[in-house]
Amino acid sequence: MPALESPRQLDLFDARQLGREARVGAARRIADAIADLLGERVRLTVHDNRSTMVSFRRVAGAVHYRVHHMFLEAPGEVVGALAAFAGPARAGAARRREAGGRIDAFVRARRDRIGAPRVGVLQPAGRAHDLQAIFDRLNREEFGGEIEARIGWGAVRPGRRRRTVKTGVYLADARVIRIHPTLDRPSVPGFYVAAVVFHEMLHQAVPAREAGGRRVIHGAEFRRRERAYHDHERARAWEASHLALLLSSPDA
Ligand SMILES: [Zn+2]
Repeated sequence: MPALESPRQLDLFDARQLGREARVGAARRIADAIADLLGERVRLTVHDNRSTMVSFRRVAGAVHYRVHHMFLEAPGEVVGALAAFAGPARAGAARRREAGGRIDAFVRARRDRIGAPRVGVLQPAGRAHDLQAIFDRLNREEFGGEIEARIGWGAVRPGRRRRTVKTGVYLADARVIRIHPTLDRPSVPGFYVAAVVFHEMLHQAVPAREAGGRRVIHGAEFRRRERAYHDHERARAWEASHLALLLSSPDA
């Protein structure tokens, strides 16, 4: 929701989100490069799973790679390592080990750079509001069931006085929505919580895009769809008249 802070700061948007077309193009380029190096047909599937960054198997005359989407931005030497990783046994174990080491180094560097969200366990059930129920209803009614994300309450940090509050965050890389725990109280109406959740879900439906070297996160299409949400005005009005409540500690 835009009222509390400048929109740029309102939610932490993962800077690595690419548009779908850019992702498909990057995946194709990498698959082609590996195929050239290996001299075999290559299929490449991109996933968000952080536990197994790279795997491959040979199926029906093709090498089928599954790689974390951070590899969509891999430089040439890492693409070479992906190829060597699945290279022929006669190329030698030392070469494969070296390739594995290079891939690991790339993953470590990326993780550090993007500050890999340690998402851990997400708790959607609050004391006053059930975020999963809100998410599921909005997904059904507003997004045709197409949003894929996990949702939970952010951690309560007791005793901190706030002058601003980030009501919600969408972590595109992890596909995670976190809602600020100050909203989890009976005095905050469900329609307001839903509007905040809707805003974060909309980030997946209307991804950030590059325009003239600038990352557009809350662009015209985003704002148009946000305004079209049936409770948008009502939620904004409620927020504007309850800022003090939102800024106070939930336990106060
Ligand atoms: Zn936003």
